[in-house]
Amino acid sequence: SNANLYAVLESGFPVDRSGVAIQTPERDYSWDDIDQLSARFANLLCGLDLPAGARVAVQVEKSPEALMLYLATIRAGLAYLPLNPAYRAGEVEYFLGDAQPSVLVCTSKNRDWIDDLARKSHTPHVYTMDQDGSGTCLTAASQQASRFQTAVSQSDDVAAILYTSGTTGRSKGAMLTHGNLVSNARVLKDYWGWRADDVLLHMLPIFHVHGLFVASHGALLAGARMIWLPKLDIEQALHYLPQSTLMMGVPTYYVRLLADARFTQELCRNMRLFISGSAPLLTDTFKEFQTRSGRTILERYGMSETIMLTSNPCDPALGARVGGTVGPALPGVSVRVVDDANQVLATGEIGHVQVRGPNIFKGYWHMPEKTRAEFTTDGWFKTGDVGRFGGDSHIPDHYLSIVGRSKDLIISGGFNIYPKEIETIIDEMAGVAESAVIGVPHPDFGEAVVAVVVPRAGAAIDGASLQAELKSRIANFKVPKRVHVIDQLPRNTMGKVQKNVLREAYKDK
Ligand code: ATP
Ligand code: MG
Repeated sequence: SNANLYAVLESGFPVDRSGVAIQTPERDYSWDDIDQLSARFANLLCGLDLPAGARVAVQVEKSPEALMLYLATIRAGLAYLPLNPAYRAGEVEYFLGDAQPSVLVCTSKNRDWIDDLARKSHTPHVYTMDQDGSGTCLTAASQQASRFQTAVSQSDDVAAILYTSGTTGRSKGAMLTHGNLVSNARVLKDYWGWRADDVLLHMLPIFHVHGLFVASHGALLAGARMIWLPKLDIEQALHYLPQSTLMMGVPTYYVRLLADARFTQELCRNMRLFISGSAPLLTDTFKEFQTRSGRTILERYGMSETIMLTSNPCDPALGARVGGTVGPALPGVSVRVVDDANQVLATGEIGHVQVRGPNIFKGYWHMPEKTRAEFTTDGWFKTGDVGRFGGDSHIPDHYLSIVGRSKDLIISGGFNIYPKEIETIIDEMAGVAESAVIGVPHPDFGEAVVAVVVPRAGAAIDGASLQAELKSRIANFKVPKRVHVIDQLPRNTMGKVQKNVLREAYKDK
């Protein structure tokens, strides 16, 4: 049988294809529309006579047509390469130079600088697609036939190249295969109990794993409807929640919902599942959400290179959802926590998270050395995250908690310091909304611990008393040498705190 991801997703479409697959405030798209429009785009792409493995780079606003263009690329057996529409010329230039796509689809307002870049990087085909789906891509596709025989793909063929978020350095292109994406979609379908009568509130961007794969594949494979919104807009979210059964969001989405007094249990009456990921969910948010909505957020963990790795259970028979953890390894995925010598650590001990499974990517695009360096000799992928299994009486031994990233680890005076430990204590203090603990260069200690703290609305924070309170609770070497109070932490579009930005800003202070 065909290992092509689209062929697998299509096997989940409902028999009656006239029903609504994608609902937007403007119009509805049926399952037939998905099939036919993705066929038209696929015919357009195939007409370009591209070599096998050619990349289709897409930097457009989120629309149903953009999703169909993604599906078309998969159907045509080409490699999809999504780019954040917020990127400007300097950023896009890097991706074009690195990925050498054959096709580039951009928004018409960027057309002039994109044309320049396309010429420089020898990208032969440029199309436009705007927020409403219109543009030269759709116009050309509408001349094409609405039937397309999905290409036959092998499991190992690259389906997409996803650039990592660039939180720890320059973005790397993770090559994901049809087999990677299919295995993860199938596992999540069962593990999260996807049903044909689910309605997914889709408000995530579609240039990352979370919105493009985890959310969209889930709904498509289940034959479930999506309510498709360009981004998180609180008014729209509150409007569509009562019609939805499932929502996926980054932690900031949940913080924003809680900040609105109109968000109530009544609005969640049909909601079966709220899923959070991409960045750590604060335990406070987890608890407050439980109180306000009567629902327990399911937190899961994954990355561009691996898609989903661990997840708190959906089915209560498999265990409770424990706040502050990312749950057990997904079925078929292996997760271990090791020391610097790759020796497996005991439950409760903090170390490097390494993973194996059918979902692990094929390698970084054009970076064979980097790829080799990120795998152990026995084939485990080094996630770059630091975590531990169990470690507390309320946490089952097989539940993973992410403590931070290896690169954020602070080494001060020869001691390893995990920022998360200090952040957790600071976050519990009166008047604190959230915090980030970083290491900055220090002549004597190598690195010095610095805390950047965001006060709750209307609260004032005194750095000296915060330090004094920490001194009474943790070893002196972990207590921040400086406390900076700011209004908000710098975050990227996926809600990840940009500690590199903070390190840069506070390195001389
Ligand atoms: P780069 O690799 O370029 O530095 P990045 O790692 O942020 O960027 P992504 O692949 O988008 O790029 O993000 C994956 C990372 O997000 C994980 O390695 C992990 O650090 C973090 N992450 C994802 N889900 C969670 C979660 N539930 N809790 C804590 N961290 C999470
Ligand atoms: Mg990463």
